[in-house]
Amino acid sequence: MIKNDLKLIEKNLSKKEEKRLIMLAPSFLTDFFYPEIICQLSNLGFDVIVEITFGAKMVNREYHRLLKERNKELWISSTCPGIVEGIKRNESLKVFEKNLAPIDSPMKAMAKVCKKHYPFYKIFFLSPCHMKKIEAEKIEEIDFVIDYQQMKEFFKKHNISSCSTKRKFDRFYNDYTKIYPLSGGLTKTAHLKGIIKKREVIIKDGWEKVKKILYKLKKNPEKYKKIKFLDVTFCNGGCIGGHCTNQNISIRKKKNLVKEYKKLSLKEAIPEDRIGLIKKAEGIKFAYF
Ligand code: SF4
Repeated sequence: MIKNDLKLIEKNLSKKEEKRLIMLAPSFLTDFFYPEIICQLSNLGFDVIVEITFGAKMVNREYHRLLKERNKELWISSTCPGIVEGIKRNESLKVFEKNLAPIDSPMKAMAKVCKKHYPFYKIFFLSPCHMKKIEAEKIEEIDFVIDYQQMKEFFKKHNISSCSTKRKFDRFYNDYTKIYPLSGGLTKTAHLKGIIKKREVIIKDGWEKVKKILYKLKKNPEKYKKIKFLDVTFCNGGCIGGHCTNQNISIRKKKNLVKEYKKLSLKEAIPEDRIGLIKKAEGIKFAYF
């Protein structure tokens, strides 16, 4: 994993002439505080700090379109690389590969938006799991990827303790998709009311549970023919359960942290130029159907 080479990352961070942007998934709350994290990253050498919530919004629009236009088929969310790879690599589940939604992950979508607006910046992604690090390797717009535990080590090494700031995320702000790292976050934020019925959707988190439901679907397609959408994540609880997140706090506590963060964000006054408006992603392709 070259993009996760810590020596190369360190080298890049030491280059004063380089401009850097870092993208955070809203699961960062499991390991960092907000807004302190903005200050810490800025002290480490990042010029632009954004959340991938806008990428999630753009991806949601495509899920909305897919489930509306192709509503006779079964679709499986492809936002989580653990699920995508789990299906592709498992001989008996390969049959579902065709059902994976042909839509970018929020990380990829956001990287495309960032590259469009910051073409000369090095793009970093702060990852909650190993699977996203592997996915980032294949995304040409991403230059470096580093996980939560590695970033904590970096802060320690560079003597960056918590610091106070009023600075917010710099661009592409979106509040309602802040719950994306929770299981079912996609379904809850893609405005699917009227598009698909509740009983046509299955939300599952944790690979074992997901596999179980896929086997059932394979074995008895007639029984499950009403199911149109599987909103699934590899980790328990969604991305808040990622392998590179803090393993010392419960999923319940992590869930509350994300919910509190979303509540807080609804009270934040964000200037219009910082909001993730759809026009900012004009001309970018996020889906392939
Ligand atoms: S659910 Fe887990 S494996 Fe999937 S993207 Fe989130 S943290 Fe990574």
